[in-house]
Amino acid sequence: MRIGHGYDVHRLTEGRRLILGGVEIPYEKGLLGHSDADVLVHALMDAMLGAAALGDIGKLFPDSDDAYLGADSIVLLEKVTSLLKEKGFVLSNADCTVIAQKPKLAPFIEAMRHRIADAAGVSAAQISVKATTEEKLGFTGEGLGIAAHAVVLIEEVCS
Ligand code: MG
Repeated sequence: MRIGHGYDVHRLTEGRRLILGGVEIPYEKGLLGHSDADVLVHALMDAMLGAAALGDIGKLFPDSDDAYLGADSIVLLEKVTSLLKEKGFVLSNADCTVIAQKPKLAPFIEAMRHRIADAAGVSAAQISVKATTEEKLGFTGEGLGIAAHAVVLIEEVCS
């Protein structure tokens, strides 16, 4: 068993779609980024790569590479899952927390868990997604951006 942690932040801006956990969420703003800026999936991928000591998504999918312009982060998660599999690791479970003042994410949590689980080749029971606010404090509280944390366990598969 190996543990990994990931953290990411993206700025909220007008004129962008809000994608979290591979699910489009109706909101007046979206997250700014080179890819679809899915902050939740980014934190999760960094946790998985960290657990395997395989670097981070900045190294794997550089934002200087146009191949990743507007990239669907769920597809990147499939790539990270494959990379870990090549190295002999599978995801045991993930616990993710999204920190956003708005919008309310509760109605979308189940859909996020299923999209993430499908991309990571596990069951939704292995994927936890939680949402919280920071009580109007700081950049998330002021609605300037959204942050996400992820903690994962991966398991080395005997070959
Ligand atoms: Mg990111």
